[in-house]
Amino acid sequence: MIKTKSYKKLSRMALLLIFGTMAATVTAVGMPYRDIHQNAVVMDMHNDTMMKVVDENTWLPVINIGEETPADFQLNLKKAGEGGLDVAFYAAYTAYQTDFSDVMARTNSRSLALLHALHWTVAQNRDSMALAESLGEIEKGIQEGKHVAVASLEGMYQFGPEYSKELLHQYYDLGIRAAGMVWNTPNDLGAGANVANHEENAGLTDKGIEMIGEMNRLGIMVDVSHMNERTFFDTLSVAEAPVIASHSGVDGIRPHVRNLSDEQLLQLKENGGVVSINFWRTAVADPGSSASVGKLVDHIDYVVDLIGIEHVGLGSDFDGAAMPQDLPDAAYLPKITEELVNRGYDKEAIEKILGGNNLRVLKAVEEHAGRQRKQSSSNSRGLGLTIIPDIQMGEIFDTTKPLLTATVADHGDGTAPFAQYRIIVNGIPYEAEYDAKAGKITHQMETDLLGRGTTADKGNFHAVTFEGKDAGGSMSRETTIIYVR
Ligand SMILES: [Zn+2]
Repeated sequence: MIKTKSYKKLSRMALLLIFGTMAATVTAVGMPYRDIHQNAVVMDMHNDTMMKVVDENTWLPVINIGEETPADFQLNLKKAGEGGLDVAFYAAYTAYQTDFSDVMARTNSRSLALLHALHWTVAQNRDSMALAESLGEIEKGIQEGKHVAVASLEGMYQFGPEYSKELLHQYYDLGIRAAGMVWNTPNDLGAGANVANHEENAGLTDKGIEMIGEMNRLGIMVDVSHMNERTFFDTLSVAEAPVIASHSGVDGIRPHVRNLSDEQLLQLKENGGVVSINFWRTAVADPGSSASVGKLVDHIDYVVDLIGIEHVGLGSDFDGAAMPQDLPDAAYLPKITEELVNRGYDKEAIEKILGGNNLRVLKAVEEHAGRQRKQSSSNSRGLGLTIIPDIQMGEIFDTTKPLLTATVADHGDGTAPFAQYRIIVNGIPYEAEYDAKAGKITHQMETDLLGRGTTADKGNFHAVTFEGKDAGGSMSRETTIIYVR
């Protein structure tokens, strides 16, 4: 039995060694690239489309990408459909919002505004779009023929003070499944691509290490794309699950501060992670030479040659960057598959590049978080009761000190279903009042959420969580985003 098994394995390996390259070429030739593209899960790990969806001043969503959009939208649902784009990560991007004095609060509000815009977008397009928070939900959305959105953070500039774990948990509740701690500039967690490696504080901070641990625990993919090299290597040395570079090219084709060196790629392979090649013109080709699909696929080739087919994907940066001339928007995505076919990649390899590799990382991150959850909650007995916020996603309050309330479903015998309630606002926990008779938990905000009448404009968007924990430690929570004015 064992002998047969190992023989089979050996012979298969031998076959692969002898015929591997040839077989790949033979399979791909004559196979219409459009069929391969249509049948594959096409997954794009980064776009900035929500920045264009919101109004510049109010940050409220104003353009529905399910309808006709202004021509400059590189991604909308029509273009996603034409390009066969099944899954896209919609980033809530922010560096520090320095236009008012309460920088951290306003930065938090900006991230929430873009995340709210994504929830709004999905709500406007329920028939054709889904927001997925797990691999299972991604698969379900694809089966239903929907464009699947996943929420991500680009830049965690509001994190750092005391309650950042609480705040991260709120973002997880709101659907964030990938997060890059830094954009190009440094913050309390680490250093971005603009920070030289020899500078003081050029690496990951203690707070950054803590955040990575928490992302691994919750099941959020760590995105290393905008990090400088020191922060990148520090991150890979502490990450307990594979990481992603959601939109990065490679120095081997185009040396650039935003692209990854060979050393970084080799470390990424060790980690089991994936680099998703950025379409940004400037990161694809040297100045003076033209960025094209061909040049973009040169980056893919380079990664495959250096670290193998398992570690490369697509990260467009749509609506956040200038695209190659022959790849102006999402409708043109099949051209990448066409080029891969022309270069002799077989169907299986192409499926890995288009989405399979990033799905594998998401699965590994989910499984890691699942194991940790199992360990920490093995003794708790949940009552399975529910908390229903009396507040809708995106609800507008005409007061900056809102009364926050939620309904708690109890045992039906009037007994208090939970031992402990909290209401968390922007990462800060407050004790909630529980009215057993009414089945309500409430908190009256006493601090002005907007900072009206001061120079400290904290922004209109705020994250609110209602949480109940029973005696066994089992937790039930619901998180939403509110708008105060
Ligand atoms: Zn970016």
